[in-house]
Amino acid sequence: MTEVMRLARKLVEDGLLEHNEYVELLADRDDEVREYLRSTAQGIAVSNYGHDIFLRGLIEYSNTCKNDCYYCGIRRSNDNVERYRLSLEEILSCCEIGYQIGLRTFVLQGGEDPYFTDDMMCEIISSIKSHYPDCALTLSIGEKGRESYERYFAAGADRYLLRHETADIDHYRRLHPESLSLENRMRCLEVLKDIGFQIGAGFMVGSPGQTYDTMASDFEYLKKLNPHMIGIGPFIHHKDTPFRNEADGTLELTLYCLSMLRIMFPKALLPATTALGTIDKTGREKGVLAGANVIMPSLSPDNARSKYLLYEGKVGVKDKAAEGRQLLDERLAEIGYRTVTTRGDYKGWDRT
Ligand code: SAM
Repeated sequence: MTEVMRLARKLVEDGLLEHNEYVELLADRDDEVREYLRSTAQGIAVSNYGHDIFLRGLIEYSNTCKNDCYYCGIRRSNDNVERYRLSLEEILSCCEIGYQIGLRTFVLQGGEDPYFTDDMMCEIISSIKSHYPDCALTLSIGEKGRESYERYFAAGADRYLLRHETADIDHYRRLHPESLSLENRMRCLEVLKDIGFQIGAGFMVGSPGQTYDTMASDFEYLKKLNPHMIGIGPFIHHKDTPFRNEADGTLELTLYCLSMLRIMFPKALLPATTALGTIDKTGREKGVLAGANVIMPSLSPDNARSKYLLYEGKVGVKDKAAEGRQLLDERLAEIGYRTVTTRGDYKGWDRT
């Protein structure tokens, strides 16, 4: 048996590796190991969640951001973005469309937009929850203080997505300006978990400066944090950012990482991301076959979608939300999966 296959088997048996072993498993990957990890990961996902794919309706409610992350298309310094904000009524009508097509989780995502005060966010959260009490609500609105997170939870938010982006401090500096810190990002995740949210961390695959060594730190960090959801997708360059000339992350490495994560976190909610569907026409289906069990179709209004461009070529910009599910079902049926009408909580999670 090759050394890299030995490490792959060790990952399957123990659910984790030493730092240098992660590096080796990533660096020396070959076809045989790739297929071994993929099929094992798919089997684990099926034994936990069957062939059901959970849906999350993504509502991109603001593309205004006070941050200036070097990779992101809606960063503050990008003057070419036409900024927008959705009103409460617009947000609720996105939910209505989503509810009608059977979505039972809504994700409010946006730039860090100070216009939306905590009072406003709590009003949005409680309105959504009172109109749709059988739905879960996820927030993906960035770094805040403990008090704000507590208020959002009390208002009814159930889950929070905050990708850690990279667990390596030097790599973090390569991706972000001085005003942001890895320490604070990690603190936010700890606080969110402590409050009782189902939390999601994650990273981009192939972001500038990423190495197998920094990725090993990501896997180690995730193992320690043990989040309920893990969002990973390829980095894709945007022409109006400092990373305009950087290479994009690859489908192959993203799928490999997805499989590793499924093996390490058998019950985790793992999305096959829009970015994965952007770099490859059937990227999301391939993600499902590599162990993912969540898809996040956009519910954002048509005129907002084309303005929420984190990266170039984003798929789904011209899709109609209402037709989205049927199309997805047709595509997933081809690989033996189906979408389901359920909140899709983390197995065993109970809001207390
Ligand atoms: N502002 C919130 C936050 O910081 O968590 C949520 C919105 S942020 C735009 C959502 C995620 O998009 C980020 O965590 C990042 O990983 C991803 N993203 C941003 N730019 C990207 C790019 N160029 N390619 C791929 N993913 C990107």
